[in-house]
Amino acid sequence: MELFEAVRGFFSEAADRLGLDDATRTVLSSPRREVAVQVKVPRDDGSLDVFAGWRVQYNGARGPFKGGLRFHPDASLDEFRCFSALMTWKTALVDIPYGGSKGGIRVDPKQLSEGELERMCRSFVRGIAPVIGPEQDIPAPDVNTGPREMAWMTDQYSRLVGRDSPGAFTGKPVEYNGSLGRDAATGRGAVFCLDRLAHAHGWARGEIRIAVEGYGNAGSWFAILAHALGYRIVGVSDSRGAVVNEQGLDPRAVLDHKRETGSVVGFANAETIDGEDIVGVDCEVLVPAALEESIREDNSDQVRASTVLEVANYPITPKADAVLAERGVVVVPDILGSAGGVAVSYLEWVQNIQRERWTEDRVNDRLRELMETATDEVLARAEAGRVTHREASYEIAVERVGQAEQRRGRH
Ligand code: GLU
Repeated sequence: MELFEAVRGFFSEAADRLGLDDATRTVLSSPRREVAVQVKVPRDDGSLDVFAGWRVQYNGARGPFKGGLRFHPDASLDEFRCFSALMTWKTALVDIPYGGSKGGIRVDPKQLSEGELERMCRSFVRGIAPVIGPEQDIPAPDVNTGPREMAWMTDQYSRLVGRDSPGAFTGKPVEYNGSLGRDAATGRGAVFCLDRLAHAHGWARGEIRIAVEGYGNAGSWFAILAHALGYRIVGVSDSRGAVVNEQGLDPRAVLDHKRETGSVVGFANAETIDGEDIVGVDCEVLVPAALEESIREDNSDQVRASTVLEVANYPITPKADAVLAERGVVVVPDILGSAGGVAVSYLEWVQNIQRERWTEDRVNDRLRELMETATDEVLARAEAGRVTHREASYEIAVERVGQAEQRRGRH
């Protein structure tokens, strides 16, 4: 199934339950605008490569389009449609005044030198410049992009428009108009969400064993911050394998090991297992924090956790989602679990357009408020409506975007 079709299914079901009118449903069933660009990259050896790039703007009824940029060899228009829709629901659910978008380039960035990467970023910005900007569409990091790429792109955009435009991108380096706390924000937001769940269910943190699939920015920050609060991290994985220890791992030491060797595999005081097997680790909370579709129909029966907290975008396919729901496994959906990143992107943008700099505590306090409010709303709606957490999240988000669409009128 195409990724976009899968996520549109979650929307359609929510629209049915809400009794959304046909016109609004049609507007919210496809992207507002899709831009495809050639990305020309002069290589170090003098040759020229051309890669395919896209920016998909799904819906902007609640504010400027907002969403990350990913560089991946499997990137496709279908994938960006899917993720731009997810961004629309995500920004609505945490109630920040944005729409949703996503984009990126079909490329393996690991094959490029630093100079080639910079030229690629600048070329891409020249392609999408007419449709982005601080009040139109604000890109940010996603898979294989980070502060370095956002700095090049912000510089390029500012040159193109002839004025300093720090609010055109978020996730920038702290030294160049970035926000304190943005780096850890996705992981920290997920921990606030988890802790709210623990509070609601009366869990003792030390008894909650957690397995984390994916040890990139979101997964590693999540593990480090959850561990600091007293949760037990019993397994983590990356693309090369997984390490497990029932007594608990020290996530910072695992990250040091990964930085030294390129992988979590071989970490001392832990057993190394197959990366795919992280899904079946005995734990209370499983946290998919890698790429899309890591829990599918064929491996969903391996899940032993009673709660799955989605920190990646679209890690569970609809069929696997139904299997888990049937078994009574609570799934906290990506549009809530991964919303911490865009929440702090919003705070970065607010600082940029007001030319302010906030302390890290101020950023983190506001992030906590946004995540706790959204989590409480989802828990309350799930309980009142006897629906899953994903269904409750979609209902809230679709209702908000739908109402903005309706208020803005039809003409
Ligand atoms: N790429 C992140 C996400 O999927 C962050 C997007 C943003 O900060 O705009 O939520």
